[in-house]
Amino acid sequence: MPGTLYVVATPIGNLEDITARALRVLREVAVIAAEDTRHSRKLLNHFGIRTPLISCHEHNEQQRQELLLGRLLAGEAIALISDAGTPAIADPGYRLVRACHGAGVPVVPIPGASALLAALSAAGEPTDRFLFEGFLPARATAREAALRALCGEPRTVVCYEAPHRLMATLAAVAAVWGADRPLVVARELTKLHEELFRGTVGEALAHFGAGKVRGELVLILPPCVAAAPERDLLTVLRETLAAGTLPRKAVVKQVAKEFGVASDEVYRLSLEIGRDENEGRPA
Ligand code: SAM
Repeated sequence: MPGTLYVVATPIGNLEDITARALRVLREVAVIAAEDTRHSRKLLNHFGIRTPLISCHEHNEQQRQELLLGRLLAGEAIALISDAGTPAIADPGYRLVRACHGAGVPVVPIPGASALLAALSAAGEPTDRFLFEGFLPARATAREAALRALCGEPRTVVCYEAPHRLMATLAAVAAVWGADRPLVVARELTKLHEELFRGTVGEALAHFGAGKVRGELVLILPPCVAAAPERDLLTVLRETLAAGTLPRKAVVKQVAKEFGVASDEVYRLSLEIGRDENEGRPA
């Protein structure tokens, strides 16, 4: 029987956010595959967990995969963790998980903290649908192109961002989407200097431009509210006449006023509509 790969979420700042199940699994597995073993050793020491660690990061995931898969197929249980939050979410891990599925090794998620969901849950923006963009490109032209591609996006857009790039990203959002666009910046979630900034992009530029931006950040861009489709004169005229609640003259006057068109022109159109409809009627 193969062992199980546990994908274990760890805190994104506040150590109280680790779950009881995560602690048990981290204690019970044969080995913990971690992005940065020195970083994770501190977390494990805090909870008195002595399970051996093995590194598994972006640059060695491929070769580690064979070794970890071998151990799993030999029946060992392994936990996968990242530096913070949920592994495989803008973090290494999905290749190992996919290899496990391919080899018939059970994969069990141990859910917990994730910056993405923590930020969304406290942002006060629509979450019924959202688009996670991960990190926007670091290069200015690619970043602008990515933002341009998101123009008109009807879902809330969530991005991770590095503090040294925040101002450049806000400036790009202002250039592409306008400085009046609302947004939320979630900074240092679950930590001492936690901040949830809500305002326009222009206000964010002023707020974060006042000093050095520090800490970890999530950007939340609320959906673009689509402008109401323009009601065209002929449709409104046809519908109002068909409703039959007003005499033709009153309908003409109302529609002419709504669209700023001369009454005799609207009257002529109303007669045309009547003619078209009569022609369409069966004899
Ligand atoms: N897998 C992680 C997760 O589930 O949250 C995300 C890993 S990603 C490499 C790290 C990015 O997550 C940071 O650069 C930042 O954008 C965001 N992040 C992590 N911790 C955060 C926190 N406490 N507050 C705000 N953003 C955070």
